[in-house]
Amino acid sequence: MLTLTFLGVGGAFAKRNFQSNALLEAWSQGPDKQESPDDTLLIDFGTTGPISLHQLRTHPEFAYLDANGIVNYPAIRRVLVTHPHADHIGGLEELALANMFLFGERDAGRAFKPQLISTSSIMVNLWDHSLKGGLSGMPGRYALLQDYFFILSLRESDPERNSFQMLKRYEFALFPTNHIAIQHKYDWPSYGVNITDTKTGESAFYSGDTRFDYPVYSQMMGSARINFHEAQLIEQPDPVHTLLSQLRTLPADVKKKTWLYHYGDDWDSGAYKAVDEEFAGFARQHERYVLFD
Ligand SMILES: [Zn+2]
Ligand SMILES: [Zn+2]
Repeated sequence: MLTLTFLGVGGAFAKRNFQSNALLEAWSQGPDKQESPDDTLLIDFGTTGPISLHQLRTHPEFAYLDANGIVNYPAIRRVLVTHPHADHIGGLEELALANMFLFGERDAGRAFKPQLISTSSIMVNLWDHSLKGGLSGMPGRYALLQDYFFILSLRESDPERNSFQMLKRYEFALFPTNHIAIQHKYDWPSYGVNITDTKTGESAFYSGDTRFDYPVYSQMMGSARINFHEAQLIEQPDPVHTLLSQLRTLPADVKKKTWLYHYGDDWDSGAYKAVDEEFAGFARQHERYVLFD
């Protein structure tokens, strides 16, 4: 079984629902038969990620995330980074430092190291542009990204090397998203994920941050058993996210199996009733969604 629990479902500026990061749990038996999953993966870990995990660990079904009152960071085995906005990577410094100073062999300077997964085009800048400032200084020496993580660098141009698996069964394939576009589509690296259960052939789609680009991934969304698509509720010219009005143009059967996430704080103002009628609904944080039985 593979389950997905959002640490948050809000957009970059949301304050009520935390930021859009997700905890994937792979189970050989299932959550009712195991105390903890066999493998765990975060899809992104933004600034609000640590406080969200801190809350989630008090839920009885997520007790394995608790270590005597603090977040049990070594329970997080892998982190996939879709792109370097702070709502997707802002929690990595805390995770890395906790794994070094609270859960690692501090005196030997050895951290508990989860796997860090992204494409080489993200990985090449992640340290120098984002993480180095807070993580390079260690008592007595300078540290590098590989002091904190085992690095898995994917190659988006090579179909053989743009994916990884959980439990040798669930395959995660990255695809580029049209999020920022400095000059052209896809010129600023950013990704979504298509997940396949290789045993049954079923799939699940996770859009990542993207402008409306449905023709490019319509096949993935059409054939998936469950979709998660980012959504911007407020209308705006030339947005870097997908407007709700654009998502409403999707085929009715696709909308019915699509949960919306990365939305603003006014989702429950009464103005967006169409979401519950046309779509699977607004995704909720801290609720386990079953991707594959
Ligand atoms: Zn975002
Ligand atoms: Zn973004």
